[in-house]
Amino acid sequence: MDKQVIYLDNNATTAVAPEVFTAMQPYFCERYGNPSSIHRFGGSVAADIEKARCQVAELLGAGFRDKEGHATEIIFTSCGTESDNAAINAALNALPERKKIVTTAVEHPAVLHYCEELSRRGFTVELIGVDRNGRLDMAALQNAVDENTAIVSAMWGNNETGVIFPVAEIAAIAHARGAYFHTDAVQAAGKVEINVEKAGIDFLSLSGHKLHAPKGVGALYVRRGIIFSPLICGGHQERNRRGGTENTASIIGLGKACEIAKANLAEEYRNLKQMRDAFEARLLQSIPRICINGASEDRLPGTSSVSFECIEGESILMLLDVLGICASSGSACTTGSLEPSHVLRAMGVPYSSAHGTIRFSLSRYNTPDELDFVAEKLPPIIARLREISPYWEENSNGK
Ligand code: PLP
Repeated sequence: MDKQVIYLDNNATTAVAPEVFTAMQPYFCERYGNPSSIHRFGGSVAADIEKARCQVAELLGAGFRDKEGHATEIIFTSCGTESDNAAINAALNALPERKKIVTTAVEHPAVLHYCEELSRRGFTVELIGVDRNGRLDMAALQNAVDENTAIVSAMWGNNETGVIFPVAEIAAIAHARGAYFHTDAVQAAGKVEINVEKAGIDFLSLSGHKLHAPKGVGALYVRRGIIFSPLICGGHQERNRRGGTENTASIIGLGKACEIAKANLAEEYRNLKQMRDAFEARLLQSIPRICINGASEDRLPGTSSVSFECIEGESILMLLDVLGICASSGSACTTGSLEPSHVLRAMGVPYSSAHGTIRFSLSRYNTPDELDFVAEKLPPIIARLREISPYWEENSNGK
């Protein structure tokens, strides 16, 4: 990697781990057979895919194995988005008399935009809100889930703030009304302990490129016994649940990434949280009028969403970029105007803060020195931008 870069945008995507890259390499030019082939050259690749399936299942605490020892509850997909779409689609098909989806206002567009599409097709979609700390309104959820609800979809950990939802409780509410429960664990997988069986999960989505596997591969956990209708129809791959020749190298990479994540979970959690907490403490000490979004909640260990009052996030990002520091903002540039993200809006973060929100997201490859460097560079950047900000002038009263 470019030595000049300090990469703090790991919720956007991560570097492929060197061990993952090594595990993938033989599958390009040597072991390139089609896993569906009858000959052994291809067939042996199918066996490796089954091994990767078990590695994914182990990360998720999905203990079921069929007679051949295969973790059949895992389906390989192309990405987290496909997994999210496929889960919701399957639940609606499995319970065709039910026409309602209950989800949250802070989901990723992979869920929200698919739900918008489903509402255009006649389904009812109910969005549950969060409070100022990003905590889900559980009473509203209880009221929303009814006998017409096919599926409740709530993310495990939020991609912008890192706030973790009480998925086991949400699953229990869904099940009490006979609905399925799906969780988008794209940001949580590999970062916090997941046990789909203990948590009562029916469907769980994850994505390779968020946990040091490559882009273009994902997985969907589907609890055994659920009648699953595929989103992508074609060949017999993935036990007729996802058509398309397998992305073998990436699947092997995803399996390896899950194995590494599981082996180092506790240690990595500790390290990331320690670095993140120390970084936040330093910012709070050295910069006035900032807020850490979701700070009071249980959060993913490496995610920090910081709102700097009265300045534009994009300006901060540009000045950080000059120093080789990569982060992202809490705004989405839509139709030319910089709208604060739907997550920050749902949390009721005031506009003056939401506009100046930066997400720093860490990985195992970051070091305390890198974070010290960023914490040292930020105060003068913020001071400089506030000096030229008309909003700061209006709001600061000289403070
Ligand atoms: N869900 C969450 C919470 C995400 O953060 C993302 C990606 O940012 C996705 C889904 C989509 O994953 P993918 O990029 O693999 O489609």
